[in-house]
Amino acid sequence: MAAGALETGRMADMEPAEALPEGGYVRWVALPLARGAGPFGVLVAGLRRGRSSLGTLEWLEMRAALAADLLARVCLREEEQAQTAAARGQVEKAGEPLLLVNAEGQMSALSATARQLIGNGAAQPGASFAALFRTPGPEEIRAWLGAGFAGRGGPSLDGQLLSGTRVRARTSIPVRDDLLTVFLERPASEAAGRAGDLAEAELRTLLEWIEQGVVLFDAEQRIRAMNSRFVQMAGLDPVEAGRLQTLDALLERIGAQAADPEALKRRWRELARVEQGGVREELQLVRPSPRILERAARPVLDASGQRVGWLEIYRELTAQRLFQSRLLQAERLAALGQMVSGVAHELSNPLTSILGYAQRLLLRPDAPQGEDVQKIYQEAERARRILRQLLQSSREVRPERKQVSLNAIVRRALELQCFGMPAEQIRVETELDPATPVLVGDPDQLQQVVMNLVTNAQQAIEHARGRGVIHISTRRTGERQVRLEIADDGPGIPPALLARIFDPFFTTKPAGLGTGLGLSIVLSIVREHGGQVHVANRPGGGAAFSVDLPVARPETPAGRPAKSRKAAAAPAPPPVERQPAAGSPEPRTPARVLIVEDEPTVARLIADVLRDKGMTVETLLDGREALARAAQRSYDLVICDLKMPGLDGQHFYEALARSGSPLRDRVIFVTGDPLSAPTLEFFENYHLPYVPKPFRVEELLQAVRSALKERAANAKHATARHQS
Ligand code: ADP
Repeated sequence: MAAGALETGRMADMEPAEALPEGGYVRWVALPLARGAGPFGVLVAGLRRGRSSLGTLEWLEMRAALAADLLARVCLREEEQAQTAAARGQVEKAGEPLLLVNAEGQMSALSATARQLIGNGAAQPGASFAALFRTPGPEEIRAWLGAGFAGRGGPSLDGQLLSGTRVRARTSIPVRDDLLTVFLERPASEAAGRAGDLAEAELRTLLEWIEQGVVLFDAEQRIRAMNSRFVQMAGLDPVEAGRLQTLDALLERIGAQAADPEALKRRWRELARVEQGGVREELQLVRPSPRILERAARPVLDASGQRVGWLEIYRELTAQRLFQSRLLQAERLAALGQMVSGVAHELSNPLTSILGYAQRLLLRPDAPQGEDVQKIYQEAERARRILRQLLQSSREVRPERKQVSLNAIVRRALELQCFGMPAEQIRVETELDPATPVLVGDPDQLQQVVMNLVTNAQQAIEHARGRGVIHISTRRTGERQVRLEIADDGPGIPPALLARIFDPFFTTKPAGLGTGLGLSIVLSIVREHGGQVHVANRPGGGAAFSVDLPVARPETPAGRPAKSRKAAAAPAPPPVERQPAAGSPEPRTPARVLIVEDEPTVARLIADVLRDKGMTVETLLDGREALARAAQRSYDLVICDLKMPGLDGQHFYEALARSGSPLRDRVIFVTGDPLSAPTLEFFENYHLPYVPKPFRVEELLQAVRSALKERAANAKHATARHQS
């Protein structure tokens, strides 16, 4: 029955001889499945009794038609797949540069020679055919492929691959509606092509050799060449760079990296129009990393003087600029250092006098009541400390190393600081943990750290609202670490500035208020102490600086023995108390002292202080005169300034030593100079005691007493030797 249907192409049927049991089939029909040329299958159906109506048969015919359609499609797809596989196989095996391109413009197969010609990186099945080309553009290539698919292959396509190689492409009759073979070949004029390729290769090699970044554009603003150095300077990915074909595409890609994208694009487009001469300018890129590039651009002219494009050469200036700015900074620091030491020297004399006379006034039994003199003294004392810190930060002054209490330092700094702070507007809260262990460090320097941070907090609050709270705390934060935290509720620090605030000279304050040195001094002192400084903005507003410092090791010696004998500064705040009207005054010291000091007020102050103590004093303002006087008379002690016009302190001393004068062992120096290395060396070589200016009265007296004591001990020793 089925064979009959196949043969005749018509429906055939068959009824069984006997009726089947209930539920069985009583009639079989076979319907041919036909499509085009003839039937290629049969649909067989069994019909129950009473169901073989005309309607049922029509329904079956419709089903047969549908089944035929489906089967035909399956066959077609298999055929197509076989066709595609065959075409791919042929293309892949082909000896010439052949490609198979699908309707989406993607390459589905390439011959080995095609891969070679294109360059293996770009020749990947699945990649876009148009993307292989530098020229012409993708639109033109798509239109050309479209004509190929439509069977209108027509003219060949001349273009340049991304690698720079020139090619001519041709299409044949499509393999199918959606599959087209493309032949690639070198341009028709082989000689011209080779010469062109050679020139292209030479140009590229040359550009790669140049250390600067180079981009060459043609007159249509297309990129003719771009070297790897430029790709690297512009922060481009090499593959991505190969795809950039026009100035517009380059601008689109790099524009966003510039400090001012719009200005960069505008300027670059202007270059495309430069007819004559060259242009030199700077570009600032902020991404992927901040860069300064110098660009030189000039038009490229052909033999007839016609502009055929332009050339841009880029030079990296980032490192040079950084170096220049560091150099400038170092120069500024050196100049500042000189200026500071000069100013400090000038100020040290008047400050010594103010401090000394204020102190004398306070010590007098008939001193005026009230806090005025006390305030003068305290302010002068504060100025003295600042001056000493300035000298320390401007010259190689050796910092002290001794065991210090951070809490005591904070208290002292606040005592000095609070005079400048309007208490009713700025509240200072302290939370100093008594268990904070001792540190090894320079108390004056650490005090400077606290004072600088508190001053900044105070200024930030004053600038923002005028009133606020400064919170200062100390605590142990680890086995070997303590932390000092100074936080304020001012405006905080803009995040963009956080990285710069420790730079020397960086300030946001008006001239006169800010020097930009405060935090850089803090940082260098803390680092010198082996610590770290951190800063953060507080969640509720304001800035918090934390200073982490290492704890003293138990075995650390309390101080560094110094060869020279700096008159030790009293570590506690100067306890200037009024002298009791009655009581036992200090015993008077009947010594004879020569003062050599060119600054009359300081000379007078020293003389007054020593006379108060019962000493006989002679004052000379000149080194030469003093040398002559020393030869005529005998003194128990000479107090000599270091820096004097004419014969200075060092030459005065050396002349004494040369002449064998006994006075050479009885000299104390006072000096307002920053203690430079040669000065310190001089003091150390001769074991000379010195008192740095501006000094407090008791510092001077302490040095005088110990020198006299030493002199008395030496004299006793000499007498004993003489008698024995
Ligand atoms: P100066 O105080 O002379 O400006 P500094 O080095 O001490 O120099 O500080 C640098 C800058 O850091 C200040 O100008 C200010 O902008 C910022 N700064 C420092 N401390 C604070 C603070 N507590 N709150 C807000 N800004 C601060």
